[in-house]
Amino acid sequence: MPNVTKHNFGAGPCVLPQDVLKKAADAVMNWDEQGLSVLEVSHRSPAFEAVVKKTETLVRELLQVPEDYSVLFLQGGASLQFCMVPMNFLRDGATYLDGGFFGKKAIKEAELFGPVNRDITQITGDYFHCTSNNTIEGSQMKSFPDVPNLICDMSSDIFSRPINVSEFALIYAGAQKNMGPAGMTLVIARDAFLDDVKHQVPAMLDYRVYRDNGSMYNTPPVFAIYAAMLNLQWLQSTGGVPAIYKQNKAKAEMLYAEIDRNSLFTGTASVPERSLMNVTFKTHEPLLEPVFLAYAESKGLVGIKGYRTVGGFRASLYNALPLTSVIALVDAMQEFENSNIY
Ligand code: PLP
Repeated sequence: MPNVTKHNFGAGPCVLPQDVLKKAADAVMNWDEQGLSVLEVSHRSPAFEAVVKKTETLVRELLQVPEDYSVLFLQGGASLQFCMVPMNFLRDGATYLDGGFFGKKAIKEAELFGPVNRDITQITGDYFHCTSNNTIEGSQMKSFPDVPNLICDMSSDIFSRPINVSEFALIYAGAQKNMGPAGMTLVIARDAFLDDVKHQVPAMLDYRVYRDNGSMYNTPPVFAIYAAMLNLQWLQSTGGVPAIYKQNKAKAEMLYAEIDRNSLFTGTASVPERSLMNVTFKTHEPLLEPVFLAYAESKGLVGIKGYRTVGGFRASLYNALPLTSVIALVDAMQEFENSNIY
């Protein structure tokens, strides 16, 4: 088992509650006393089909997914969605919000399929694509435009705050932040939007193939789905999305308050856009950066180094990170300010 005294602020892949990790580990050894690992049981068995169904039901309940939407489990990460989305839906052109590192990657892929408009004052084309939370920059969309075919990459904030699924034609998310281990991609799509695709798409890149085969056209990522089911059960048992949102807000508010108060640090995202999931900040004095990093690590605060192209710090506050970890980080920032370490 991992050292429980560590506070994991890593941006991924995946932060899970200890309880979920323990149940997943038990199932790898002997799933439900069947004498087989969850990794060995046939994915076509009734027992595993029930896991897929249960996971879908949990997604539907937690996000209040309307009946006319499909919930699909794919592979290839959010990065494959950067290509699948335009391959399926871009005919004449599409508008993309050019908001951050991953949005730019999505645009690069879309441009292989047709023209991309970046002017969001003139939303045109077959759909509008945005990223709800910029994992690297630490900014988050607080509301979404009211446009007909809205597609959103929610990889780093799905299940962290309430959303209104009916505002979207399609939502996708790499599972590995708040849903479960890497290896699975969640897609939630309006059926009529999927059915509007008239051209031929290769089977593994066609959303309808996943829908029509219950996400089991080929061998699904069995462990990722199983662990996601356990994690979503945990989320439901703690009060679901509204309750976790309250906690996530409390965690982020506490950390931003300290960043704003502390004379050594400053936030890097614009204040109205500050993310509840990925808190980015830096030291006023760049030479202090490695010193604070080392100090934080000595206190068991891991994963706060900013993305390699951005620098500074990034504290990811995913659902499974407890408030006590944020308190530990805030304490360390205060101690650092009051000490002679720097
Ligand atoms: N989109 C966002 C917002 C992300 O945070 C990430 C990864 O962190 C990706 C896309 C890429 O996801 P994947 O590694 O699953 O392809």
